[in-house]
Order: sequence, then structure tokens, then C-alpha cells
Amino acid sequence: MTRRQPGRSILLVSMLLAAACTSSAAGSGTSGPGTSGSATPAADGTTSVVPSASPRAPVPGALEEAACAMPHEQLVRVWHGVEPQRSGQIQMIPQEPNFLGSNFPHSGPWDYLQDVPLFWYGPGVVAALGEVDRRSTIADISPTQAELLDFDFPEVDGRALPEIETPATPPRLIVTLVWDAGGMSVLDEFPDDWPVLRSLIPDGVWYTNADVGSSPSITPATHATIGTGQFPMHTGQTDAEFFLGPDLVRAGALGPVLLMQPTLGDLYDRALDNEPLVGNLSSVTWHLNMTSHGALWGGGDKDIAVLRTPVEADNEGAEGTVWNLQGKNRPYFTFPEYVNDLPPLSSYTEEVDRADGALDGKWRENSIEQYENGWATPARIPYQERMIEEVIAREGFGADGGPDLLFINFKAIDHVSHIWSVNSPEMQDTLRRQDEALGRFVTFLDDQVGSGNYVLVLTADHGAQFDPEVSGAFQVTPTQLAQDLEEAFPSSTGGSVFRAVRPSQVYLDEAAMRANGYTDEQIAQFLLDYTKAQGAPGGPADVPEHERDDRFFAAAIPTSILSDLVCLPEARG
Ligand SMILES: [Zn+2]
Repeated sequence: MTRRQPGRSILLVSMLLAAACTSSAAGSGTSGPGTSGSATPAADGTTSVVPSASPRAPVPGALEEAACAMPHEQLVRVWHGVEPQRSGQIQMIPQEPNFLGSNFPHSGPWDYLQDVPLFWYGPGVVAALGEVDRRSTIADISPTQAELLDFDFPEVDGRALPEIETPATPPRLIVTLVWDAGGMSVLDEFPDDWPVLRSLIPDGVWYTNADVGSSPSITPATHATIGTGQFPMHTGQTDAEFFLGPDLVRAGALGPVLLMQPTLGDLYDRALDNEPLVGNLSSVTWHLNMTSHGALWGGGDKDIAVLRTPVEADNEGAEGTVWNLQGKNRPYFTFPEYVNDLPPLSSYTEEVDRADGALDGKWRENSIEQYENGWATPARIPYQERMIEEVIAREGFGADGGPDLLFINFKAIDHVSHIWSVNSPEMQDTLRRQDEALGRFVTFLDDQVGSGNYVLVLTADHGAQFDPEVSGAFQVTPTQLAQDLEEAFPSSTGGSVFRAVRPSQVYLDEAAMRANGYTDEQIAQFLLDYTKAQGAPGGPADVPEHERDDRFFAAAIPTSILSDLVCLPEARG
């Protein structure tokens, strides 16, 4: 199933890098009057304009029927991912494998994005059970860690996994290790490229039926779930940007204040008078959601945090050029300055360069320099690994009897997936390097903390996207959909009806919608009726004739009706 992505232009590359893991949103007002419909070259060389379908009144019961026709598990994941005050007013679920996004997004309720590894390893602490087929989600992680610590932690959405028992003495260190985007779709695609992880399975507990449990499966949302044991419906971390009152804010832009529930790190640290070390060694602000609110909340202290955000960050999903901790997070955490005295990223790019047989400035066909001086290559893995080992050793994680909590996110797999997709030799290289790093890290923990003194939990926050040429997906960009929505629902009041169109939801300006006489159900009906012909970037001629009228979406659900769906009794307790 592996297939080389056709060469991409440098321009596209730089766009992708700028947008890496931001799940591109299209803002409103992207089109004006006179641009209605899709321009299509006609046979005589002229360009004809195909009008967009005009909106129609909602068909009674059609939206509910489409929602209830979804696999129930997927509908539950959508419900778990929605918080009515923060989420968009319409939830969109493309027909699998179709997706909405401008590069390779990973937001959706489908198994290929939801299924993740969930592995507990700690010889002498965690039983060696090997594979266990119990259904579990990443919301089970923090309640289970609380059980390891014999600590009373509320089980709201997640449950303590019974296979992981409370030891006589709690481990000195619990490490939560996230392979960002390293879902089972990636591991299954390259079954021979994670031999280290596979070799550890018999010595720990590997949950073969683990998933994220909520949609959109997006980094800030899922990291909040890992840390709190609660889904976005409770944490409020619903998307990369969401409503805060009438405004759209970026998740993480205001620091930890928008994470509405306490993490295990918050409660456990405070209960022990902040004696335990709590730390997060990752790269983007969203990763902090699995760790703590630091000193923001009463009784908390300034936990250790190392990120790598852009110096002028207006995008919390982007990464910068040095280890740092910026802006709104700075007051609440401690940044160990010495991490920037370690060997720079460039010390690790030569090995990646040489791996394809030639020292030519390239990783396979890719200029290392052009890919963020190597940050978009597997060189970032040993570079971060070195930083992590330094912090563990110098800060003394796991060095004394008091249990410490360390949270790590490696984002290399995610980074590569957004540029090259799952189906690329770049992904295979990256997975293999990530797996090798795991082997070195386990050896390091054995030496530094000692076997029997630590527990390592390895998981992923979501899967990654397949190349549409491999999956057969029909891809629509949010920009295209936003244009079509603007044309179908023009505003005569000055302001657009649409605040943002994102890969899983539409954010509406309620006042503008009402002033123009539109309803969320009417807009949802338009989405449900939206065809491949409408969504094709080059117009209907891009779509085989027999597919033009195919619906792109499986369901378009007004958030206001979600909890009332007859097929979703879970929403009513
Ligand atoms: Zn992620």
C-alpha cells in the first residue's frame, strides 16, 4: 500500500510547513460577489460557470436520518468531541474515506484515525501480559496512572484499566510517551519497521482495542483527554480553534487557562505539596494539555516545560527553531535554559543525510535545508531524545522515592504525515527512527532510573492520513467549501454568516445568520446535499460523470440537535 507521493513543488512544501498540524481552516469572506460557482474550461476553450446548488429548506428528518445512519461508535465519538459553547454549530462527517482539508489532516471519527497503540511497560511493576483485547480509550490513561500511584482520581470518562494493578510501592517515575500521529494506521502500514516496540509487547500490556474516543481527533483535544481522563465535551479543548464567547480563539493561545478540567499532574502534585517533579518535554503548546496547569491554578507550582514554538507565534500548531517556552505559558512553568546548550539540530542531520548512501544535503529526494533545516526530517528525533535525557538526569526525574510524572511528545511522525502522508518512504524512515529511539530510551531509563522503578506508557494522539491516490479518498479543501457556503448563503448585512470552516465543523456568526434569515439546519442541509462536483477544485469536469452527484458528506449535524438524536441515548444519560 506504500506509494511514493508525486514530487511536490517547493512552494507547496513551504505552505505545508507553515501549516503543519494546524488543520487548515478557511476563514470567512474568502469570496465576493461575482465569483459564484466553479469555473470550468469548456470544449471551445472558453470558461463556463456552473452555479452552485441553491440552498433549500431542510428536508424533515433528513439530518437526523443521516446522523443515525453513521456507525454508532463514530457518532458517539463526535458527541464526545463537542462542547456546545465552544464547538462550531455544525459537525461535518465526510463519507469515509473522503476528507476535508488542504493537506493531509487527521480529524475524524473513523477507525483509521482513531485506533492507537496503548502500551504499558514497566518490568517489576506492570504485569507481563502481552496482548489484551479489552476496549479502551486514551481517557483511561490518567485514571490508570492514578491507580499505579494509589491516588484517588475522579473517573469521569476514562476508567482505570484492571490489568494494570497498584504495586506495593509506587514507581518512582511514570513516563507518558506520545508518538504524535503514530496511530495503528501508521504501525499497520509498516509492520516490520517497529521491531523494538514489538519486542517489548510480551513484557508489558498491549491493548489491541484502544482508540482516541472523540472526534475531531486533533492534538489539543486528545492531549487534554490523556491528561484529564475526560473527553473534549468536558475539557473544552474541542478543536485547534474554538469559540470563547463570540470570539474564535486558538487552543493554547491563552496558556493553560482554557483547559477546563484538572489533569492527574495537577491534582497529584498538589496533593503531595508539589514534591513530585512534573514535566512536559514536547514541542507545541497543545502538548501541555496532557500535563498540568502549572502554577495557574491555586496550589500548583511551576512544572517543567520545554517546547519549540515560533518566536512570533500566532499559531500554536507550528514549531520554532530553538527549545523555548513562550508567551502565556511562561508565567506558569519553568523552562530549563540549559537545553539550548546541547548539540544543535544540525549535529543530527548528517546521519539522516548519509542514510540514503550519499552525503548530498538530501534526505532521499528532499533537501534537508529546505525542510526547516532538518526539523521536518527524522533528525529531530535524536535531537529531542538528547534533550529529554539531559532533563531527566539534571532535574532528577525518578531519582528519589517520590513518584514523578513526565510527559513527552515526539512529533516527527505527525510532521512527516502532514507533508508526505502515511504512504511514503519518508514515513517508513521516520517510524523506524522513532522505534530505534524507543530502544535507546528504555536502556537509558534502565540505567538512570533502574528497571523496576519506572512505568512507561506509550500511545498516540491520533492516526495519520493516507495518500488519496492510495485510499481513493475524494478531498475537498476548506477554502473551496467556504467559498461555496458564502455563495449559497450570501449576507446582506455586511458581515459574513461564516466565521470559519474547519475539517470537522463550521463556525457560524449567529447574529449574521439570523439577520439574513438562515438557520443552522438549512446550512446543514446544504452540506448534506453537497456533491463531489461542487467540491472538485477544477469544477465538475474533474469528477467522473457517474460520481458527480455523489454526496461528499455522510452527515452534517447541527450541534444543537446532537444530544436529542433518538439514536444517541448516551447523550441523555
Ligand atoms: Zn497530534
